[in-house]
Amino acid sequence: MLGNPQAKGEAMLHSDPNIDGHRQIWTAKAARALFDQPLMDLLFQAQTVHRQHFDPNRVQLSRLLSIKTGGCPEDCSYCSQSSRHDSGLSASKLMEVQRVLAEARRARDAGATRYCMGAAWRSPKARDMPQIVAMIEGVKALGMETCMTLGMLDADQSAQLAEAGLDYYNHNIDTSEAHYPNVITTRTFAERIDTLEAVRQAGIKVCSGGILGLGEGRQDRVDMLVTLANLPSPPDSVPINMLIPVEGTPLENAAPVDPIEFVRMIATARIMMPQSHVRLSAGRTAMSDEMQAMCFFAGANSIFVGDTLLTKDNPEEESDMRLFAKLGLQPMVAHEHAPDEARRAALLADDPAIPILR
Ligand code: SF4
Repeated sequence: MLGNPQAKGEAMLHSDPNIDGHRQIWTAKAARALFDQPLMDLLFQAQTVHRQHFDPNRVQLSRLLSIKTGGCPEDCSYCSQSSRHDSGLSASKLMEVQRVLAEARRARDAGATRYCMGAAWRSPKARDMPQIVAMIEGVKALGMETCMTLGMLDADQSAQLAEAGLDYYNHNIDTSEAHYPNVITTRTFAERIDTLEAVRQAGIKVCSGGILGLGEGRQDRVDMLVTLANLPSPPDSVPINMLIPVEGTPLENAAPVDPIEFVRMIATARIMMPQSHVRLSAGRTAMSDEMQAMCFFAGANSIFVGDTLLTKDNPEEESDMRLFAKLGLQPMVAHEHAPDEARRAALLADDPAIPILR
């Protein structure tokens, strides 16, 4: 048998909770064994799982707009938008609805199928809700999926957003529960989980992931994935970010993340959450074409497009399209997002590699 039989054996038991009709709960030990495997074994397994659920040559494109920038009262130590750090970013008011819709139309015409709107808030205030609802309704009317990230939500706010037609809500857990207090002190890890639950209960799809490069160790990375994979339903989207250190924030001098470690993270996320879109998120400007190609091979199948990501640089669209052309990747078309059950069944029947993963 090739590779590390013990690691592979543990991973096999937990490889796809849906294949045998019930969901496995991931243990930290099994997830760590998966993460620690020889890279070639990990990549092979991730790519195999990926092909069971998705077209491996399609990548979903999302566009992100900051609808309210800076002045945030939270103290997330990586973030330029916190009013507690001196990053030189000036705060703006909530953007007018018509401006948001004009930007969304441009994004749609350029090929984006999902429009993500982010506000630097602890949580939205009642006075902001009508404007937020109008943005969701307007973007939906353009034929795009909608995603918002507005901070913490309670059940009522989640219900209002669901009523407006919001498809996704992004709220990252950022890191492991153990490392979390080293990164953020103004809200707890448990509060993050409460928001995810309120969103899920309202029927909105959950987008939740984290960031590598916050001073965490490998076990923290694994533990973060275990938390996400063991949620009542795994998130529909799992953004994996690589820290872009920002001057003036407590993490301005953070050590860079090893590219291979980042690829391992993507591959492990793919295997643990086989039906989720794993998003190669912030940090792509610092990644070579080769590293991004490895991430796509490891199972990443979603990216943000556009020149800026909230307040950070993002690769220009032209360079993304050049990379797609080199790799033979195609953008996913709207509503091509749900894993194709027929395709999955056919693959399970035909592919001799797949039984080893049952
Ligand atoms: S990450 Fe979000 S909540 Fe934290 S400081 Fe930045 S804008 Fe505020």
